[in-house]
Amino acid sequence: MKYQILAETYARIERTSSRLEMTELLSELFRKTPRSLIARVVYLTQGKLHPDFEGIEIGVAEKLAVRAVAQATGTPQEVVARQLSREGDLGTVVEKLLSHKTHKPTLTVDEVYETLDQVARISGAGAQAAKLERLAQLLARATPLEAKYIVRTATGKLRMGVGDMTVLDALAAVFGGGRQARPVLERAYNLTSDLGYVAQIVAEGGLEATRKIRVVVGKPIRPMLAERLSDPEELLRKLGGRCIAEYKYDGERVQIHKDAKAVTLYSRRLERITDQYPDVVDLVRRSIRAKDAIVEGEVVAIDAESGDLLPFQELMHRRRKYGIEEAMRQIPTALYLFDALYADGEDLTERPYAQRHAVLERITREDDRCRLAAWREVRSVRELEAFFEQAVAEGCEGLVCKAPGGVYQAGARGWLWIKFKREYRSEMTDSVDLVVVGALYGRGRRAGTYGALLMAAYDPDEDAFPTVCKVGSGFTDQFLAELPKMLAPYIRKEKPPRVVSRMEPDVWVEPALVFEIVGAEITLSPIHTAGWNAVREGAGLAIRFPRFLRVREDKGPTDATTVRELVEMYRRQLRKVASSPESS
Ligand code: ATP
Repeated sequence: MKYQILAETYARIERTSSRLEMTELLSELFRKTPRSLIARVVYLTQGKLHPDFEGIEIGVAEKLAVRAVAQATGTPQEVVARQLSREGDLGTVVEKLLSHKTHKPTLTVDEVYETLDQVARISGAGAQAAKLERLAQLLARATPLEAKYIVRTATGKLRMGVGDMTVLDALAAVFGGGRQARPVLERAYNLTSDLGYVAQIVAEGGLEATRKIRVVVGKPIRPMLAERLSDPEELLRKLGGRCIAEYKYDGERVQIHKDAKAVTLYSRRLERITDQYPDVVDLVRRSIRAKDAIVEGEVVAIDAESGDLLPFQELMHRRRKYGIEEAMRQIPTALYLFDALYADGEDLTERPYAQRHAVLERITREDDRCRLAAWREVRSVRELEAFFEQAVAEGCEGLVCKAPGGVYQAGARGWLWIKFKREYRSEMTDSVDLVVVGALYGRGRRAGTYGALLMAAYDPDEDAFPTVCKVGSGFTDQFLAELPKMLAPYIRKEKPPRVVSRMEPDVWVEPALVFEIVGAEITLSPIHTAGWNAVREGAGLAIRFPRFLRVREDKGPTDATTVRELVEMYRRQLRKVASSPESS
Protein backbone atom coordinates (compact mmCIF):
# COMPACT_ATOMS: atom_id res chain seq x y z
CA MET A 1 0.00 0.00 0.00
CA LYS A 2 1.28 3.44 -0.93
CA TYR A 3 1.89 5.97 1.87
CA GLN A 4 0.37 8.61 -0.43
CA ILE A 5 -3.08 7.15 0.31
CA LEU A 6 -2.54 7.86 4.01
CA ALA A 7 -1.24 11.35 3.30
CA GLU A 8 -4.27 12.19 1.15
CA THR A 9 -6.64 10.94 3.86
CA TYR A 10 -4.80 12.99 6.50
CA ALA A 11 -5.17 16.11 4.36
CA ARG A 12 -8.91 15.54 4.15
CA ILE A 13 -9.22 14.75 7.88
CA GLU A 14 -7.46 18.01 8.67
CA ARG A 15 -10.01 19.98 6.71
CA THR A 16 -12.98 18.68 8.65
CA SER A 17 -14.10 19.48 12.15
CA SER A 18 -17.00 17.06 12.08
CA ARG A 19 -16.37 13.86 13.99
CA LEU A 20 -18.85 12.00 11.81
CA GLU A 21 -17.01 12.97 8.66
CA MET A 22 -13.71 12.07 10.30
CA THR A 23 -15.09 8.59 11.04
CA GLU A 24 -16.23 8.26 7.40
CA LEU A 25 -12.80 9.24 6.10
CA LEU A 26 -11.09 6.76 8.42
CA SER A 27 -13.52 4.02 7.41
CA GLU A 28 -12.71 4.68 3.76
CA LEU A 29 -9.01 4.40 4.56
CA PHE A 30 -9.44 1.15 6.50
CA ARG A 31 -11.39 -0.35 3.58
CA LYS A 32 -8.45 0.33 1.30
CA THR A 33 -5.90 -1.10 3.75
CA PRO A 34 -4.67 -4.69 3.33
CA ARG A 35 -5.60 -6.58 6.50
CA SER A 36 -2.03 -7.37 7.39
CA LEU A 37 -1.23 -3.63 7.48
CA ILE A 38 -4.15 -2.43 9.53
CA ALA A 39 -2.27 -2.25 12.85
CA ARG A 40 0.46 -0.06 11.36
CA VAL A 41 -2.07 2.22 9.67
CA VAL A 42 -3.96 2.63 12.95
CA TYR A 43 -0.81 3.56 14.88
CA LEU A 44 0.40 5.96 12.16
CA THR A 45 -2.96 7.71 11.99
CA GLN A 46 -2.60 8.60 15.65
CA GLY A 47 0.97 9.81 15.10
CA LYS A 48 2.47 6.71 16.75
CA LEU A 49 4.31 3.52 15.84
CA HIS A 50 3.39 1.40 18.86
CA PRO A 51 0.82 1.46 21.65
CA ASP A 52 1.59 4.16 24.21
CA PHE A 53 2.48 1.74 26.97
CA GLU A 54 5.56 0.60 25.10
CA GLY A 55 6.99 4.06 25.61
CA ILE A 56 8.69 4.24 22.20
CA GLU A 57 8.41 7.79 20.93
CA ILE A 58 9.67 8.84 17.51
CA GLY A 59 10.54 12.23 18.99
CA VAL A 60 12.97 13.64 16.42
CA ALA A 61 14.03 17.06 17.73
CA GLU A 62 12.88 19.93 15.51
CA LYS A 63 16.47 21.09 14.95
CA LEU A 64 17.44 17.71 13.59
CA ALA A 65 14.34 17.61 11.39
CA VAL A 66 15.29 21.04 9.98
CA ARG A 67 18.65 19.60 8.96
CA ALA A 68 16.98 16.58 7.37
CA VAL A 69 14.63 18.82 5.39
CA ALA A 70 17.58 20.99 4.28
CA GLN A 71 19.50 17.94 3.10
CA ALA A 72 16.55 16.30 1.36
CA THR A 73 15.47 19.44 -0.49
CA GLY A 74 18.91 20.88 -1.18
CA THR A 75 18.05 24.09 0.67
CA PRO A 76 20.44 25.89 3.03
CA GLN A 77 19.62 25.14 6.65
CA GLU A 78 19.18 28.86 7.54
CA VAL A 79 16.54 29.22 4.84
CA VAL A 80 14.58 26.25 6.21
CA ALA A 81 14.89 27.63 9.74
CA ARG A 82 13.69 31.07 8.62
CA GLN A 83 10.69 29.62 6.80
CA LEU A 84 9.91 27.54 9.87
CA SER A 85 9.74 30.57 12.11
CA ARG A 86 7.41 32.23 9.58
CA GLU A 87 5.12 29.21 9.02
CA GLY A 88 5.28 27.72 12.51
CA ASP A 89 5.13 24.20 11.07
CA LEU A 90 7.96 22.28 9.47
CA GLY A 91 5.49 20.02 7.63
CA THR A 92 4.13 22.99 5.65
CA VAL A 93 7.69 24.20 4.98
CA VAL A 94 8.87 20.91 3.46
CA GLU A 95 5.67 20.62 1.41
CA LYS A 96 6.35 24.05 -0.12
CA LEU A 97 10.03 23.37 -0.69
CA LEU A 98 9.18 20.23 -2.62
CA SER A 99 6.20 21.69 -4.49
CA HIS A 100 8.04 21.64 -7.82
CA LYS A 101 8.39 17.86 -7.59
CA THR A 102 5.87 16.03 -9.68
CA HIS A 103 7.12 12.43 -9.59
CA LYS A 104 4.68 9.63 -8.90
CA PRO A 105 4.39 8.41 -5.32
CA THR A 106 6.54 5.34 -4.67
CA LEU A 107 6.88 5.10 -0.88
CA THR A 108 5.00 2.27 0.78
CA VAL A 109 3.42 2.36 4.23
CA ASP A 110 5.88 -0.32 5.34
CA GLU A 111 8.90 1.68 4.20
CA VAL A 112 7.76 4.77 6.05
CA TYR A 113 6.80 2.81 9.16
CA GLU A 114 10.03 0.84 9.30
CA THR A 115 12.27 3.83 8.69
CA LEU A 116 10.53 5.85 11.40
CA ASP A 117 10.78 2.88 13.73
CA GLN A 118 14.52 2.64 13.12
CA VAL A 119 14.85 6.37 13.70
CA ALA A 120 12.98 5.97 17.01
CA ARG A 121 15.21 3.15 18.19
CA ILE A 122 18.68 4.31 17.18
CA SER A 123 20.65 5.26 20.26
CA GLY A 124 24.20 5.60 21.48
CA ALA A 125 27.17 7.26 19.83
CA GLY A 126 26.50 8.67 16.37
CA ALA A 127 22.75 8.30 16.84
CA GLN A 128 21.93 11.83 15.72
CA ALA A 129 23.86 11.51 12.46
CA ALA A 130 22.27 8.15 11.70
CA LYS A 131 18.75 9.47 12.43
CA LEU A 132 19.40 12.49 10.20
CA GLU A 133 20.62 10.31 7.35
CA ARG A 134 17.61 7.93 7.44
CA LEU A 135 15.06 10.71 7.68
CA ALA A 136 16.66 12.77 4.90
CA GLN A 137 16.74 9.76 2.58
CA LEU A 138 13.09 9.04 3.24
CA LEU A 139 12.08 12.66 2.61
CA ALA A 140 14.10 12.82 -0.61
CA ARG A 141 11.90 10.06 -2.03
CA ALA A 142 8.60 11.52 -0.83
CA THR A 143 5.99 13.56 -2.68
CA PRO A 144 5.36 17.02 -1.17
CA LEU A 145 2.23 15.83 0.63
CA GLU A 146 3.93 12.70 1.96
CA ALA A 147 6.91 14.74 3.19
CA LYS A 148 4.57 17.04 5.11
CA TYR A 149 3.08 14.18 7.12
CA ILE A 150 6.34 12.26 7.52
CA VAL A 151 7.95 15.33 9.09
CA ARG A 152 4.99 15.91 11.38
CA THR A 153 4.97 12.27 12.45
CA ALA A 154 8.72 12.19 13.03
CA THR A 155 8.63 15.31 15.21
CA GLY A 156 5.59 14.10 17.16
CA LYS A 157 3.35 16.83 15.71
CA LEU A 158 0.83 14.86 13.72
CA ARG A 159 -2.16 15.96 15.72
CA MET A 160 -5.29 15.50 13.68
CA GLY A 161 -7.49 14.94 16.71
CA VAL A 162 -8.33 11.34 15.80
CA GLY A 163 -9.28 10.00 19.22
CA ASP A 164 -9.36 6.33 20.22
CA MET A 165 -13.15 6.29 20.12
CA THR A 166 -13.20 7.58 16.54
CA VAL A 167 -10.85 4.78 15.46
CA LEU A 168 -13.07 2.22 17.22
CA ASP A 169 -16.15 3.62 15.45
CA ALA A 170 -14.46 3.29 12.07
CA LEU A 171 -13.26 -0.25 12.83
CA ALA A 172 -16.78 -1.22 13.90
CA ALA A 173 -18.20 0.17 10.68
CA VAL A 174 -15.70 -1.57 8.40
CA PHE A 175 -15.00 -4.91 10.07
CA GLY A 176 -17.73 -5.37 12.67
CA GLY A 177 -20.80 -4.80 10.53
CA GLY A 178 -21.81 -1.45 12.02
CA ARG A 179 -22.26 0.54 15.19
CA GLN A 180 -23.66 -2.40 17.16
CA ALA A 181 -20.14 -3.89 17.11
CA ARG A 182 -18.74 -0.92 19.04
CA PRO A 183 -19.15 -2.40 22.57
CA VAL A 184 -17.28 -5.58 21.57
CA LEU A 185 -14.40 -3.58 20.14
CA GLU A 186 -14.37 -1.20 23.06
CA ARG A 187 -14.17 -4.06 25.52
CA ALA A 188 -11.26 -5.59 23.61
CA TYR A 189 -9.50 -2.24 23.68
CA ASN A 190 -10.18 -1.76 27.39
CA LEU A 191 -8.65 -5.14 28.13
CA THR A 192 -5.48 -4.60 26.08
CA SER A 193 -4.99 -0.81 25.64
CA ASP A 194 -3.68 -1.56 22.17
CA LEU A 195 -5.74 -0.20 19.27
CA GLY A 196 -3.44 -1.69 16.63
CA TYR A 197 -3.77 -5.15 18.16
CA VAL A 198 -7.56 -4.89 18.33
CA ALA A 199 -7.68 -3.59 14.75
CA GLN A 200 -5.67 -6.51 13.48
CA ILE A 201 -7.80 -9.07 15.30
CA VAL A 202 -11.09 -7.66 14.07
CA ALA A 203 -9.75 -7.21 10.53
CA GLU A 204 -8.47 -10.77 10.34
CA GLY A 205 -10.89 -12.71 12.54
CA GLY A 206 -14.01 -10.56 12.65
CA LEU A 207 -16.18 -10.01 15.71
CA GLU A 208 -15.97 -13.64 16.81
CA ALA A 209 -12.22 -13.41 17.30
CA THR A 210 -12.57 -10.02 18.95
CA ARG A 211 -15.01 -11.40 21.50
CA LYS A 212 -12.39 -13.95 22.49
CA ILE A 213 -9.75 -11.37 23.35
CA ARG A 214 -8.58 -11.88 26.94
CA VAL A 215 -6.24 -9.98 29.19
CA VAL A 216 -2.58 -10.61 28.44
CA VAL A 217 0.40 -10.25 30.76
CA GLY A 218 2.35 -7.35 29.27
CA LYS A 219 -0.59 -5.41 27.86
CA PRO A 220 -2.00 -3.07 30.50
CA ILE A 221 -5.73 -3.15 31.21
CA ARG A 222 -7.49 0.20 31.24
CA PRO A 223 -8.30 0.83 34.90
CA MET A 224 -11.72 0.45 36.45
CA LEU A 225 -12.74 3.68 38.15
CA ALA A 226 -15.06 4.70 40.93
CA GLU A 227 -18.05 7.00 41.14
CA ARG A 228 -18.24 9.23 44.19
CA LEU A 229 -20.81 9.89 46.89
CA SER A 230 -20.70 11.63 50.24
CA ASP A 231 -23.98 10.33 51.64
CA PRO A 232 -23.41 6.90 53.26
CA GLU A 233 -27.05 5.91 53.05
CA GLU A 234 -27.27 6.56 49.33
CA LEU A 235 -23.97 4.75 48.89
CA LEU A 236 -25.13 1.57 50.60
CA ARG A 237 -28.41 1.67 48.71
CA LYS A 238 -26.56 1.90 45.40
CA LEU A 239 -24.49 -1.16 46.30
CA GLY A 240 -27.51 -3.24 47.27
CA GLY A 241 -27.28 -2.81 51.05
CA ARG A 242 -23.83 -4.29 51.58
CA CYS A 243 -20.35 -3.83 50.24
CA ILE A 244 -16.69 -4.56 50.67
CA ALA A 245 -15.30 -1.29 52.02
CA GLU A 246 -11.58 -0.68 51.67
CA TYR A 247 -9.25 2.08 52.73
CA LYS A 248 -8.65 4.61 49.97
CA TYR A 249 -4.89 5.03 50.15
CA ASP A 250 -3.44 8.34 48.99
CA GLY A 251 -0.63 7.19 46.74
CA GLU A 252 -0.10 6.12 43.16
CA ARG A 253 -2.12 3.42 41.50
CA VAL A 254 -0.04 0.68 39.92
CA GLN A 255 -1.04 -2.22 37.74
CA ILE A 256 1.46 -5.01 38.19
CA HIS A 257 2.17 -7.57 35.47
CA LYS A 258 4.25 -10.51 36.54
CA ASP A 259 5.47 -13.52 34.59
CA ALA A 260 8.50 -15.79 34.71
CA LYS A 261 10.62 -13.20 32.92
CA ALA A 262 9.73 -9.90 34.45
CA VAL A 263 7.69 -7.70 36.71
CA THR A 264 6.33 -4.61 34.96
CA LEU A 265 4.54 -1.72 36.64
CA TYR A 266 2.05 0.50 34.83
CA SER A 267 0.75 3.83 36.09
CA ARG A 268 -2.89 4.88 36.11
CA ARG A 269 -2.23 6.31 32.62
CA LEU A 270 -0.70 2.98 31.63
CA GLU A 271 2.83 4.24 31.27
CA ARG A 272 5.62 1.88 32.26
CA ILE A 273 6.96 3.10 35.59
CA THR A 274 8.92 -0.02 36.57
CA ASP A 275 12.22 1.88 36.71
CA GLN A 276 10.90 4.33 39.29
CA TYR A 277 10.07 1.62 41.78
CA PRO A 278 12.75 -1.09 42.07
CA ASP A 279 11.62 -1.51 45.68
CA VAL A 280 8.06 -2.30 44.59
CA VAL A 281 9.37 -4.80 42.03
CA ASP A 282 11.22 -6.54 44.87
CA LEU A 283 8.09 -6.55 47.01
CA VAL A 284 6.12 -8.17 44.19
CA ARG A 285 8.75 -10.85 43.61
CA ARG A 286 8.70 -11.64 47.31
CA SER A 287 4.98 -11.46 47.94
CA ILE A 288 3.05 -12.60 44.88
CA ARG A 289 2.97 -16.36 44.84
CA ALA A 290 1.36 -16.86 41.43
CA LYS A 291 3.81 -17.42 38.59
CA ASP A 292 1.82 -15.27 36.18
CA ALA A 293 -0.42 -12.56 37.53
CA ILE A 294 -1.93 -9.16 36.95
CA VAL A 295 -2.80 -7.39 40.19
CA GLU A 296 -3.58 -3.82 41.13
CA GLY A 297 -2.70 -1.79 44.16
CA GLU A 298 -1.66 1.56 45.51
CA VAL A 299 1.97 2.43 46.23
CA VAL A 300 2.13 4.70 49.25
CA ALA A 301 5.02 6.68 50.71
CA ILE A 302 5.72 5.77 54.32
CA ASP A 303 7.72 7.35 57.09
CA ALA A 304 11.06 5.53 57.28
CA GLU A 305 11.04 5.54 61.07
CA SER A 306 7.44 5.08 62.15
CA GLY A 307 6.05 3.28 59.10
CA ASP A 308 3.13 5.77 59.08
CA LEU A 309 1.45 6.54 55.76
CA LEU A 310 2.49 9.82 54.15
CA PRO A 311 0.44 11.91 51.68
CA PHE A 312 0.64 11.63 47.89
CA GLN A 313 2.82 14.77 47.59
CA GLU A 314 5.67 12.90 49.31
CA LEU A 315 5.45 10.04 46.86
CA MET A 316 5.68 12.46 43.94
CA HIS A 317 9.35 13.01 44.83
CA ARG A 318 9.82 9.49 43.56
CA ARG A 319 8.80 10.56 40.03
CA ARG A 320 12.26 10.96 38.65
CA LYS A 321 14.66 9.44 36.16
CA TYR A 322 17.89 9.83 38.12
CA GLY A 323 18.91 9.44 41.75
CA ILE A 324 16.42 6.64 42.28
CA GLU A 325 18.51 4.81 44.87
CA GLU A 326 18.77 7.95 46.97
CA ALA A 327 15.04 8.68 46.63
CA MET A 328 14.24 5.12 47.61
CA ARG A 329 16.15 5.55 50.86
CA GLN A 330 14.55 8.89 51.64
CA ILE A 331 11.02 7.94 50.69
CA PRO A 332 10.37 4.25 51.26
CA THR A 333 7.08 2.81 50.09
CA ALA A 334 4.51 0.19 50.95
CA LEU A 335 2.21 -1.61 48.53
CA TYR A 336 -1.50 -2.11 49.26
CA LEU A 337 -3.10 -4.55 46.83
CA PHE A 338 -6.78 -4.31 45.98
CA ASP A 339 -7.54 -6.42 42.91
CA ALA A 340 -6.50 -9.51 40.96
CA LEU A 341 -7.30 -9.51 37.23
CA TYR A 342 -5.37 -12.54 36.11
CA ALA A 343 -3.68 -15.43 37.87
CA ASP A 344 -1.93 -18.49 36.49
CA GLY A 345 -3.70 -18.71 33.17
CA GLU A 346 -7.10 -17.44 34.21
CA ASP A 347 -8.66 -14.14 33.17
CA LEU A 348 -10.54 -13.01 36.30
CA THR A 349 -12.08 -9.81 34.95
CA GLU A 350 -15.55 -11.35 34.51
CA ARG A 351 -15.56 -12.85 38.01
CA PRO A 352 -17.39 -11.10 40.88
CA TYR A 353 -15.23 -8.92 43.09
CA ALA A 354 -15.61 -11.17 46.14
CA GLN A 355 -14.00 -14.00 44.15
CA ARG A 356 -11.20 -11.83 42.75
CA HIS A 357 -10.52 -10.64 46.27
CA ALA A 358 -10.33 -14.24 47.50
CA VAL A 359 -7.82 -15.05 44.75
CA LEU A 360 -5.78 -12.00 45.73
CA GLU A 361 -5.71 -13.21 49.34
CA ARG A 362 -4.64 -16.65 48.21
CA ILE A 363 -1.76 -15.51 46.01
CA THR A 364 -0.35 -12.83 48.33
CA ARG A 365 2.13 -13.55 51.07
CA GLU A 366 1.51 -10.51 53.27
CA ASP A 367 4.12 -8.69 55.30
CA ASP A 368 4.72 -5.17 56.65
CA ARG A 369 5.43 -3.63 53.28
CA CYS A 370 3.04 -5.53 51.05
CA ARG A 371 -0.46 -6.40 52.07
CA LEU A 372 -4.07 -6.28 50.94
CA ALA A 373 -5.79 -2.91 51.31
CA ALA A 374 -7.46 -2.87 54.73
CA TRP A 375 -11.03 -4.05 54.15
CA ARG A 376 -14.22 -4.95 55.91
CA GLU A 377 -17.58 -6.25 54.84
CA VAL A 378 -20.07 -3.53 55.70
CA ARG A 379 -23.86 -3.79 56.01
CA SER A 380 -24.93 -0.61 57.80
CA VAL A 381 -24.36 3.14 57.76
CA ARG A 382 -22.97 2.89 61.28
CA GLU A 383 -20.35 0.34 60.25
CA LEU A 384 -19.47 2.35 57.17
CA GLU A 385 -18.97 5.56 59.14
CA ALA A 386 -16.90 3.84 61.81
CA PHE A 387 -14.63 2.27 59.19
CA PHE A 388 -14.34 5.62 57.39
CA GLU A 389 -13.22 7.35 60.61
CA GLN A 390 -10.66 4.64 61.15
CA ALA A 391 -9.34 5.03 57.57
CA VAL A 392 -8.97 8.79 57.96
CA ALA A 393 -7.30 8.40 61.35
CA GLU A 394 -4.70 6.15 59.72
CA GLY A 395 -3.87 8.72 57.05
CA CYS A 396 -6.15 7.59 54.21
CA GLU A 397 -8.42 9.76 52.09
CA GLY A 398 -11.53 7.78 52.88
CA LEU A 399 -12.97 4.52 51.54
CA VAL A 400 -13.58 2.83 48.23
CA CYS A 401 -16.72 0.74 48.56
CA LYS A 402 -17.17 -2.14 46.17
CA ALA A 403 -20.11 -4.29 45.11
CA PRO A 404 -19.18 -7.87 46.07
CA GLY A 405 -20.84 -9.15 42.89
CA GLY A 406 -19.30 -6.60 40.55
CA VAL A 407 -17.15 -7.61 37.56
CA TYR A 408 -14.01 -5.65 36.64
CA GLN A 409 -15.27 -2.94 34.31
CA ALA A 410 -12.06 -2.09 32.48
CA GLY A 411 -11.83 1.52 31.37
CA ALA A 412 -15.16 2.53 32.92
CA ARG A 413 -16.22 4.72 35.77
CA GLY A 414 -19.26 3.03 37.23
CA TRP A 415 -21.35 2.44 40.33
CA LEU A 416 -19.74 -0.92 41.21
CA TRP A 417 -17.01 1.03 43.00
CA ILE A 418 -17.94 4.14 44.92
CA LYS A 419 -15.48 6.38 46.70
CA PHE A 420 -16.49 7.92 49.97
CA LYS A 421 -14.34 10.91 50.85
CA ARG A 422 -14.31 13.58 53.51
CA GLU A 423 -16.55 16.49 52.58
CA TYR A 424 -15.00 19.79 51.69
CA ARG A 425 -16.40 22.78 53.45
CA SER A 426 -17.55 24.41 50.22
CA GLU A 427 -20.74 23.54 48.40
CA MET A 428 -18.78 21.54 45.87
CA THR A 429 -18.26 18.27 47.66
CA ASP A 430 -15.24 17.23 45.66
CA SER A 431 -12.56 18.63 43.45
CA VAL A 432 -12.61 17.92 39.72
CA ASP A 433 -9.88 17.15 37.21
CA LEU A 434 -10.11 19.41 34.16
CA VAL A 435 -8.20 19.73 30.91
CA VAL A 436 -6.45 22.94 29.83
CA VAL A 437 -7.86 23.94 26.41
CA GLY A 438 -7.02 27.65 26.22
CA ALA A 439 -5.07 30.41 27.90
CA LEU A 440 -5.45 34.16 28.38
CA TYR A 441 -2.46 36.46 28.52
CA GLY A 442 -1.68 37.93 31.93
CA ARG A 443 -1.70 41.62 32.70
CA GLY A 444 0.03 43.68 35.39
CA ARG A 445 1.97 41.43 37.71
CA ARG A 446 1.27 38.49 35.42
CA ALA A 447 2.48 40.19 32.21
CA GLY A 448 4.69 37.82 30.23
CA THR A 449 2.87 34.74 31.39
CA TYR A 450 -0.75 33.61 31.35
CA GLY A 451 -3.29 35.12 33.69
CA ALA A 452 -6.04 32.53 33.37
CA LEU A 453 -6.70 29.18 31.77
CA LEU A 454 -9.77 27.92 29.98
CA MET A 455 -10.64 24.49 31.39
CA ALA A 456 -12.77 21.70 29.98
CA ALA A 457 -14.35 18.45 31.10
CA TYR A 458 -14.40 15.29 28.95
CA ASP A 459 -17.42 14.04 27.06
CA PRO A 460 -16.81 10.36 26.19
CA ASP A 461 -19.94 10.10 24.04
CA GLU A 462 -18.71 12.78 21.66
CA ASP A 463 -15.01 12.28 22.40
CA ALA A 464 -14.96 16.05 22.98
CA PHE A 465 -13.78 18.63 25.51
CA PRO A 466 -16.49 21.18 26.38
CA THR A 467 -15.49 24.10 28.62
CA VAL A 468 -16.47 24.52 32.30
CA CYS A 469 -14.58 27.49 33.69
CA LYS A 470 -11.77 29.99 33.45
CA VAL A 471 -9.38 29.54 36.34
CA GLY A 472 -7.11 32.36 37.48
CA SER A 473 -6.51 31.72 41.15
CA GLY A 474 -4.65 29.26 43.30
CA PHE A 475 -1.42 29.55 41.27
CA THR A 476 1.86 30.30 43.01
CA ASP A 477 4.21 32.85 41.39
CA GLN A 478 6.66 30.10 40.65
CA PHE A 479 4.00 28.01 38.93
CA LEU A 480 2.92 30.99 36.82
CA ALA A 481 6.50 31.61 35.78
CA GLU A 482 6.79 28.02 34.59
CA LEU A 483 3.39 27.96 32.87
CA PRO A 484 4.46 29.25 29.41
CA LYS A 485 7.06 26.51 29.14
CA MET A 486 4.61 23.86 30.31
CA LEU A 487 1.98 24.92 27.75
CA ALA A 488 4.34 25.65 24.83
CA PRO A 489 4.22 22.23 23.13
CA TYR A 490 0.43 22.33 23.04
CA ILE A 491 -0.28 25.92 21.93
CA ARG A 492 -2.38 26.22 18.75
CA LYS A 493 -3.57 29.14 16.66
CA GLU A 494 -6.77 27.37 15.67
CA LYS A 495 -9.27 25.74 17.98
CA PRO A 496 -8.30 22.06 18.35
CA PRO A 497 -11.01 19.92 16.71
CA ARG A 498 -12.24 18.20 19.86
CA VAL A 499 -12.60 21.37 21.94
CA VAL A 500 -16.14 22.74 22.22
CA SER A 501 -16.16 26.36 23.26
CA ARG A 502 -18.22 29.52 22.94
CA MET A 503 -15.32 31.55 24.31
CA GLU A 504 -12.23 32.68 22.39
CA PRO A 505 -9.12 32.55 24.57
CA ASP A 506 -5.94 34.37 23.46
CA VAL A 507 -4.39 31.03 22.52
CA TRP A 508 -5.85 27.56 22.19
CA VAL A 509 -4.25 24.60 23.91
CA GLU A 510 -4.35 21.06 22.57
CA PRO A 511 -6.05 18.88 25.25
CA ALA A 512 -3.16 17.22 27.10
CA LEU A 513 -2.69 18.66 30.59
CA VAL A 514 -4.99 17.85 33.49
CA PHE A 515 -5.27 20.13 36.52
CA GLU A 516 -7.20 19.49 39.71
CA ILE A 517 -9.63 22.32 40.44
CA VAL A 518 -11.96 23.06 43.31
CA GLY A 519 -14.71 25.68 43.26
CA ALA A 520 -17.51 27.13 45.36
CA GLU A 521 -20.33 25.48 43.45
CA ILE A 522 -21.55 24.31 40.08
CA THR A 523 -23.93 26.70 38.33
CA LEU A 524 -25.86 26.92 35.07
CA SER A 525 -24.07 28.99 32.48
CA PRO A 526 -24.91 30.52 29.11
CA ILE A 527 -21.20 30.57 28.16
CA HIS A 528 -19.73 27.24 29.11
CA THR A 529 -20.57 24.23 26.98
CA ALA A 530 -20.20 21.24 29.33
CA GLY A 531 -23.56 19.53 29.77
CA TRP A 532 -25.18 21.85 27.20
CA ASN A 533 -28.97 21.30 27.27
CA ALA A 534 -28.50 18.44 29.79
CA VAL A 535 -30.01 20.33 32.71
CA ARG A 536 -31.62 23.26 30.94
CA GLU A 537 -32.19 24.15 27.27
CA GLY A 538 -29.63 26.68 26.11
CA ALA A 539 -27.37 26.39 29.15
CA GLY A 540 -24.29 24.46 30.16
CA LEU A 541 -22.57 23.99 33.50
CA ALA A 542 -19.84 26.14 35.01
CA ILE A 543 -17.75 26.09 38.16
CA ARG A 544 -18.01 29.25 40.22
CA PHE A 545 -14.86 30.65 41.88
CA PRO A 546 -12.57 27.92 40.59
CA ARG A 547 -9.20 27.54 42.25
CA PHE A 548 -6.21 25.55 41.03
CA LEU A 549 -5.05 22.81 43.40
CA ARG A 550 -2.38 20.85 41.55
CA VAL A 551 -1.23 19.30 38.29
CA ARG A 552 -2.46 15.73 37.81
CA GLU A 553 0.47 14.24 35.98
CA ASP A 554 -1.01 10.82 36.50
CA LYS A 555 -4.01 11.65 34.32
CA GLY A 556 -4.43 12.09 30.58
CA PRO A 557 -7.12 14.28 29.00
CA THR A 558 -9.65 11.47 28.62
CA ASP A 559 -9.24 10.66 32.34
CA ALA A 560 -10.63 14.08 33.24
CA THR A 561 -13.93 14.51 35.05
CA THR A 562 -16.72 13.73 32.62
CA VAL A 563 -19.72 15.83 31.70
CA ARG A 564 -21.98 13.18 33.19
CA GLU A 565 -20.17 13.43 36.52
CA LEU A 566 -20.59 17.21 36.51
CA VAL A 567 -24.31 16.87 35.83
CA GLU A 568 -24.56 14.38 38.73
CA MET A 569 -22.64 16.71 41.02
CA TYR A 570 -24.92 19.59 40.07
CA ARG A 571 -28.05 17.55 40.78
CA ARG A 572 -26.70 16.29 44.09
CA GLN A 573 -25.84 19.82 45.11
CA LEU A 574 -29.43 20.89 44.40
CA ARG A 575 -30.76 18.03 46.51
CA LYS A 576 -28.45 19.01 49.35
CA VAL A 577 -29.58 22.62 49.27
CA ALA A 578 -33.22 21.52 49.19
CA SER A 579 -32.79 19.33 52.26
CA SER A 580 -30.61 21.68 54.33
CA PRO A 581 -32.28 23.28 57.43
CA GLU A 582 -31.70 26.88 56.21
CA SER A 583 -33.81 26.33 53.13
CA SER A 584 -36.88 25.08 54.96
P1 ATP B 1 -8.77 10.27 42.64
O1 ATP B 1 -8.66 11.56 41.88
O2 ATP B 1 -9.72 10.29 43.79
O3 ATP B 1 -7.45 9.62 42.95
P2 ATP B 1 -9.14 8.70 40.26
O4 ATP B 1 -9.89 9.39 39.20
O5 ATP B 1 -7.67 8.54 40.10
O6 ATP B 1 -9.51 9.33 41.67
P3 ATP B 1 -11.12 6.84 41.02
O7 ATP B 1 -11.50 5.59 40.37
O8 ATP B 1 -12.08 7.94 41.00
O9 ATP B 1 -9.71 7.26 40.41
O10 ATP B 1 -10.77 6.56 42.52
C1 ATP B 1 -10.14 5.39 42.87
C2 ATP B 1 -8.66 5.64 42.98
O11 ATP B 1 -8.29 5.51 44.33
C3 ATP B 1 -7.89 4.57 42.24
O12 ATP B 1 -7.55 4.98 40.94
C4 ATP B 1 -6.69 4.31 43.12
O13 ATP B 1 -5.59 5.08 42.68
C5 ATP B 1 -7.07 4.83 44.47
N1 ATP B 1 -7.26 3.78 45.49
C6 ATP B 1 -6.73 3.81 46.74
N2 ATP B 1 -7.12 2.75 47.45
C7 ATP B 1 -7.94 2.02 46.66
C8 ATP B 1 -8.67 0.82 46.84
N3 ATP B 1 -8.65 0.15 48.01
N4 ATP B 1 -9.40 0.36 45.81
C9 ATP B 1 -9.45 1.02 44.64
N5 ATP B 1 -8.78 2.17 44.42
C10 ATP B 1 -8.04 2.67 45.41
